[in-house]
Amino acid sequence: MLPARKVSKARKRKRRAHHALRRPNLVACPKCGVAKLPHVSCENCGYVSGDVALSVEEEES
Ligand SMILES: [Zn+2]
Repeated sequence: MLPARKVSKARKRKRRAHHALRRPNLVACPKCGVAKLPHVSCENCGYVSGDVALSVEEEES
């Protein structure tokens, strides 16, 4: 047999009070304006900084 509950409702709810997801911080790409994460290359145009850019793979659809 197992105990019906080891953790009280209050203890469970206090623990889960910290489980909410935070909205990711988004910044606009200075080149194409699409929202992106800071310190990350742009998914849309591959822009990193200055003349540095990563090649963006074209998706066939
Ligand atoms: Zn961009």
